[in-house]
Amino acid sequence: MFFSEDRDRAGERARMVDLQIRSRGIDDAPVLDAMRAVPRHRFVPRSEQPAAYDDCPLPLGHGQTISQPYMVAAMTAALALSPRARVLEVGTGSGYQAAILARLAADVVTVEWVPELAARARAALAELGAANVTVVNGDGTADFEGGPFDAVLVAAGAPRVPSVLRDRLADGGRLVMPVGSPTLQTLTVVRRTGAAFREQAADPCRFVPLRGRHGWTPAAEESEVLE
Ligand code: SAH
Repeated sequence: MFFSEDRDRAGERARMVDLQIRSRGIDDAPVLDAMRAVPRHRFVPRSEQPAAYDDCPLPLGHGQTISQPYMVAAMTAALALSPRARVLEVGTGSGYQAAILARLAADVVTVEWVPELAARARAALAELGAANVTVVNGDGTADFEGGPFDAVLVAAGAPRVPSVLRDRLADGGRLVMPVGSPTLQTLTVVRRTGAAFREQAADPCRFVPLRGRHGWTPAAEESEVLE
């Protein structure tokens, strides 16, 4: 759809898809194709590039991480994207998840709290020619106008799904995010039908904490309660 196919390290990506993703039960062909196509190594710091296709999260600096490839695939598959979908991502991090979403949907808005990460992700996405992604620096739970979105992906954990994010869903839309304590969450999928929201719990997972107006403050994280 946008960037040209990157053959560099394509064999490693094919193995990543077979051994880490298909083997764990994800068989959504467009999602697997996107995971084979997007050069993950271009989104991680130079020092992490040799490990870019390993079965684990990797550090991005600023205390943040790029999720394990399987988790990126599982969250993407849970959104059941149509090629016409408008997508919101909260927590751009490296920009890798946004690149995967951008191959499958019409339009992606992704919001990142840390200015340096937002700038780096914007550059990596531009280098790939991902013209249908907009990177916004700010609080993805509060700082920008927009929507409704057919899909919302939150890449940071909170004790519950913030209603401000749920409310950005279009009718029939889906949201996926990690819900739980700062140290352990459950991947949670919310489906909107009219004014009703149905929540379904999936895999256990571990993400960095959601910050901002509707996320954890460092003090609340310490005592595991949120106002
Ligand atoms: N999807 C990313 C991984 C994200 S890690 C990737 O593909 O690399 C989670 C990110 O969420 C971190 O970069 C963190 O800074 C960011 N974050 C946390 N709270 C946020 C908020 N309220 N608004 C925007 N970004 C937030």
